[in-house]
Amino acid sequence: MFSIDTLQLRLPDIEWVTSKIHIKRLSKDFYWFSPLLTPLLAKKKADIIARPKNESELKALISVCVDLDIPLTVRGGGTGNYGQAVPLLGGVVVDMIALKTCKWISDGVIQVQAGMRMGELENLTRQHGWELRCMPSTYKAASIGGLFAGGFGGIGSVNYGPVATSGTVQRARILTIEQYPRVIDISGDELLTYHHTYGTNGIILELQLVLTPARDWSEYLMEFASLENAYTFCRALLDSAGMDKREISLYDGVAASYFKDIPVQIAPERFYVITLIASNCRVPFMELSAKHSGTIAWHQSFDEANKSGLTLMEHCWNHSTLQALKHDKNFTNLQTNYDDTCVLEQLKEVKKETNSEVLIHLEFIRNAQSKILITGLPLVKYTSDQRLLDIIEIHRRLGIKVNNSHTYFLEDGKHGGALDQAILDSKSSNDPYNLLNPGKIRMLDN
Ligand code: FAD
Repeated sequence: MFSIDTLQLRLPDIEWVTSKIHIKRLSKDFYWFSPLLTPLLAKKKADIIARPKNESELKALISVCVDLDIPLTVRGGGTGNYGQAVPLLGGVVVDMIALKTCKWISDGVIQVQAGMRMGELENLTRQHGWELRCMPSTYKAASIGGLFAGGFGGIGSVNYGPVATSGTVQRARILTIEQYPRVIDISGDELLTYHHTYGTNGIILELQLVLTPARDWSEYLMEFASLENAYTFCRALLDSAGMDKREISLYDGVAASYFKDIPVQIAPERFYVITLIASNCRVPFMELSAKHSGTIAWHQSFDEANKSGLTLMEHCWNHSTLQALKHDKNFTNLQTNYDDTCVLEQLKEVKKETNSEVLIHLEFIRNAQSKILITGLPLVKYTSDQRLLDIIEIHRRLGIKVNNSHTYFLEDGKHGGALDQAILDSKSSNDPYNLLNPGKIRMLDN
């Protein structure tokens, strides 16, 4: 058993959080989206929270934790979905949020500490005329380190693909978990070794990001009478190279009916599209909508969005489930990839087999090779564990890929069964005592 008292005594200058209520809160992420994970993770918590203010405090913390054999779990904004940041074996949760210095920004490239929240990061880059290539719908709370270590992509991925697309993150500084922690400077393909590994193989200190010119994005909620019209509109918009957009997503009217903070009457039998369009592309955008019989249900300009604080960006991606959960605790979701040659047929088959249990939410993006990727976060009405597993199987049988979002094991999620050897090699070299976020790698921890 490790001694937290000794840890505190040896590092008196670190900011410690010791109150039970705060330890409990800072030991959680959004695992409770999954009814399968909730009973497994609800009681897991750290023994203490550390808030290092700079790199040397973080190194000192690691050094003493290695000496005392104390597990460390890194936390950014704590918005991850699968218990990624939940400390399964207790120990220290390392809150990275104070490590948020911009090291430099020049010619559309920024080097920033990993704890900076993306909302703050984007405000900063905008002052220089740039914006992030992609960010999650949780951008206000989530950190850039957390996106790289635990996330996928989001708003902007319609142009640039997921965050791991080559050329978006171009360097990273990684800290090892040893008595004398080393800093490793990585670039190129090696970056992928630290992407979506839940902070198990090193702590990301800094990321160097390539940005894109900032635009004023107008927000539109479009309405369509049929799924076919809404879908063909989204595909046409995706393919319209001359129409600058930052987001395209589609919802059936029942899913959209939970957007209760948007001042508009949603019709459950209709279909809705959230899109962010560059303000100077309004005319061609309206022409394209008219061709597909779309009408504006609600709209706000970039300035209005900034003033109101209400944004459609907090309704797309995983936020559609969060909006629904605010009104009905029985929702969960899946993470799906459709066959882009027959998405409508796949959706119809899902509907036939699940009726009103599965609500449509599609995201239209590009993959890392710039190919069209129709991905989804369908809302699922949860009735039992077995039915949820059956619904996953129904999707798979219909040729829809499901990334399991109801597991905390790294192998069983996006990594599709096994971890690359490069990830395992970095784990044993950077964290030889398996102190970093232990319990998340099935082959090491089970
Ligand atoms: P945390 O939850 O704090 O951490 C995530 C993982 O990364 C943990 O394993 C943690 O240990 C590790 N980690 C954090 N910081 C570091 C570091 N510096 N070094 C090493 N490891 C680290 N995800 C998307 O990709 N796109 C979306 O659009 C999206 N929308 C969401 C909407 C909702 C409502 C919710 C609840 C989640 C959503 N997510 C989405 C998931 C999550 O919000 C994002 O992935 C986010 O970027 C995570 O950042 P964070 O700082 O909150 O990470």
